Amino acid sequence: MNRVITLVLLFLAIFLLITRFRKKPPEPEPPPAPSENMVRCAHCGVHLPKGESITAGQQHFCSDAHRLAHMDKTEPS
Ligand SMILES: [Zn+2]
Repeated sequence: MNRVITLVLLFLAIFLLITRFRKKPPEPEPPPAPSENMVRCAHCGVHLPKGESITAGQQHFCSDAHRLAHMDKTEPS
């Protein structure tokens, strides 16, 4: 009788090991990486990552040309 219990436990252990190896935990879809802060070009309104923008004071621009154009527009000299 003791042998039967041992065998059952052995089979159970093997079964558990097999199912554990087979059943990979479903990998949750990684949430999209939080995108870098987007800023808006003060001149043309295009949105771009903050790291790629040109910052002048509190304003961001998509390019140096727009920064200059915006400066010309807002600060006529
Ligand atoms: Zn722009």
